[in-house]
Amino acid sequence: TSFAHFGFDEQLMHQIRKSEYTQPTPIQCQGVPIALSGRDIIGIAKTGSGKTAAFIWPILVHIMDQKELQDGDGPIAVIVCPTRELCQQIHAECKRFGKAYGLRSVAVYGGGSMWEQAKALQEGAEIVVCTPGRLIDHVKKKATSLQRVTFLVFDEADRMFDMGFEYQVRSIASHVRPDRQTLLFSATFRKKIERLARDILSDPIRVVQ
Ligand code: AMP
Repeated sequence: TSFAHFGFDEQLMHQIRKSEYTQPTPIQCQGVPIALSGRDIIGIAKTGSGKTAAFIWPILVHIMDQKELQDGDGPIAVIVCPTRELCQQIHAECKRFGKAYGLRSVAVYGGGSMWEQAKALQEGAEIVVCTPGRLIDHVKKKATSLQRVTFLVFDEADRMFDMGFEYQVRSIASHVRPDRQTLLFSATFRKKIERLARDILSDPIRVVQ
């Protein structure tokens, strides 16, 4: 598979060329067409596999498809991950590729300033990258809303469970409209992840790195 097979438009292809990736990674070859078709995914993939771009590119296409249809505030896509560092990395990739369409991303994570994050959320962004507890705090304080979310990603779900975020992960999933598209990534596929997948994904396709 080459990037041309994904059917991305010229703006996004331009950003991909600028990043000097020569060809898609295996997880991208498998995952991107499935995500573009609108299906849910359970992805078993580690850091370094290129999984971040594998969900960001379909998110960008999804948002461009939805944008005119959806009035209102709050993000269209939410990416939930375990740590501040991962948040910042994913946010950087969202900005890099989202530039193709002038889309905005905001990162909200534990340890950062609530006030500054709330301000950034209120200025508006199509994509929010977050740690679970902090997103819930902002929703409770009405700094943002999940009502417009139609694309939800949980990255490194096994690590979020290890850090004790299972309740928050499930709570976020239950507060987003059920007809959303959901992608769940985990480095391992344990019983608990299997159970989560069964509870929050609909008819998912399994993709293994
Ligand atoms: P990730 O597994 O998403 O953390 O990505 C690991 C690294 O691979 C990141 O630095 C990405 O920028 C890079 N990367 C993602 N996709 C590709 C690709 N198709 N070719 C080369 N590098 C890539």
